[in-house]
Amino acid sequence: MTVTQQRKLVTEIPGPRSVELLGRVRRSVARGVGITLPVFVTEAGGGILVDADGNQLIDLGSGIAVVNVGNAAPAVVQAVQEQVARFTHTCFMVTPYQGYLEVCEALNRITPGDHEKRSVLLNSGAEAVENAVKIARAHTKRDAVVVFDHGYHGRTNLTMAMTAKNMPYKDGFGPFAPEVYRVPTSYPYRDGLTGPAAAARSVASIEKYVGASNVACVVIEPIHGEGGFVVPAEGFLPAVAEWCRDNGVVFVADEIQTGFGRTGDLFACTHEGVVPDLITLAKGIAGGLPLAAVTGRAEIMDAPHVSGLGGTYGGNPVACAAALGAIATIETEDLPARARDIGDIMLPALRELAARHPVIGDVRGRGAMIAIELVDESGAPDAVATSAIAKACHAEGMVVLTAGTDGNVLRFLPPLVMPPDLLREAMGLLAKVIDAR
Ligand SMILES: *Cc1c(COP(=O)(O)O)cnc(C)c1O
Repeated sequence: MTVTQQRKLVTEIPGPRSVELLGRVRRSVARGVGITLPVFVTEAGGGILVDADGNQLIDLGSGIAVVNVGNAAPAVVQAVQEQVARFTHTCFMVTPYQGYLEVCEALNRITPGDHEKRSVLLNSGAEAVENAVKIARAHTKRDAVVVFDHGYHGRTNLTMAMTAKNMPYKDGFGPFAPEVYRVPTSYPYRDGLTGPAAAARSVASIEKYVGASNVACVVIEPIHGEGGFVVPAEGFLPAVAEWCRDNGVVFVADEIQTGFGRTGDLFACTHEGVVPDLITLAKGIAGGLPLAAVTGRAEIMDAPHVSGLGGTYGGNPVACAAALGAIATIETEDLPARARDIGDIMLPALRELAARHPVIGDVRGRGAMIAIELVDESGAPDAVATSAIAKACHAEGMVVLTAGTDGNVLRFLPPLVMPPDLLREAMGLLAKVIDAR
């Protein structure tokens, strides 16, 4: 992999070749599949995406928090190439193979808590969340699933029900799965509550509207991802986890976006010493190959009957090889430390920008999961400014994503191997874009 770590624009964005391909997309790909930035990628590595016109863009998206180890990371490429030449599929439920086992052993080892654990491998984050709910229901013999405002858990039927935001995820796609209950979260910038006060509010909602003895599981992202990188106030997560423990409720941390070094620790729960009963994993797990997992306490994970869990492709051998390469890279290159370095570069730069521009209402995040929330003069969410700034960043050759229930959050998810100079250049470009407004 020899992608030079340099931004380079040789055409406008998107260039003519990408525009032509986009025309073909319109004629062949279902309209429902939206595209943030229509440059067609031909190569990628480190912090750079190369497009079909020869432009080199700075990647602040990591394919939505997936390529934490960078695109085409050497250990991932090598492991995949070796595995794909040996065999591509047997189905672990038919005739097993060692890669699946080794990924489960690795996940049991690196996830929070030193209790005995088990894992199951799946294909997508949504499938992992669905399985966590199945497992929690089998263990507790209860039905109710509690989720939070601003939560995002996927696009399958059950996970649409669990996801907070209507557009674009749910509109017109109902009816949704029953027994899913949404309660308030902790959103310090908006609610001004301390962690314990926000947790007391959430718990009061659960007890009043659901009843503790009906709840199979509470499912929460330690930092809401699609919901706008909402970092809960200190003490919120531990208090919710403690209430779960006291009430026989399975506490599920959805670390699909926050996991694998992204927030400066291997998993975001660790920041407050929270040990989830179950953890859902995907995105950063396998350097870009489709893989997901549920990992958790052995006695809970083993509740479903034999053959109650699985799927044809879950834990595909090529994806497992990639995961072993990605996990080895995260550990040997100490990518959580790189994530902390990224936050140390971005947060001061963004705070300095916010001091000059009232449109930036909040700067927040952890490690390499950083966002700014954009507001108008009255402090109301400003989705129009957000999308304009995102578009201007794209034109400068920088991939940025938006987020937030109100669409007014610009989020940054650089690969953890992003060269610091490239990151500083990206912060300079963002400042230029916002200064020019
Ligand atoms: C992306 C995401 C999911 C869904 O994962 P898919 O692989 O897209 O199904 C679930 N939960 C969180 C927190 C996510 O960020």
